[in-house]
Amino acid sequence: MTDPRQTPAEGPHFLLSAEAMFSAAHTLPGVPMCERMHGHNWRVRVTVRVAQTDVDAVGMAVDFRVIERAARDAVADFEHAHLNELEPFQDRPPTAERVAQVVCGRVTGRLADIAPSATVEEVEVWELPQYRVSYRPGPA
Ligand SMILES: [Zn+2]
Repeated sequence: MTDPRQTPAEGPHFLLSAEAMFSAAHTLPGVPMCERMHGHNWRVRVTVRVAQTDVDAVGMAVDFRVIERAARDAVADFEHAHLNELEPFQDRPPTAERVAQVVCGRVTGRLADIAPSATVEEVEVWELPQYRVSYRPGPA
């Protein structure tokens, strides 16, 4: 049984999202078509959760610009890069799933400092307008 007092996330809360874009190349060894180097205009959406009880006196859960900045900073080194050459992807090819996990880790670290009431609920990554992966880190 889950103690509801230990899962405030299940209580009333807000979900807020902001997006960042970057253009980058990758290769996925062993995957037909994808093993040839190619590029995408990647789209990343970061969604954070803030408990209703943490909304400030103005009525804001967290400033959208804070989420946007965290999302942009998380992908800053991806811009015009060959993702396979970057440190997070040295030993594991940069699939959309792994891009989402890396962004989630970076944003989580950043928000802990600047918006501690906000937790990352979901990171979505689009390689193409019709191809999206969603990563949910689950309860901390
Ligand atoms: Zn691709």
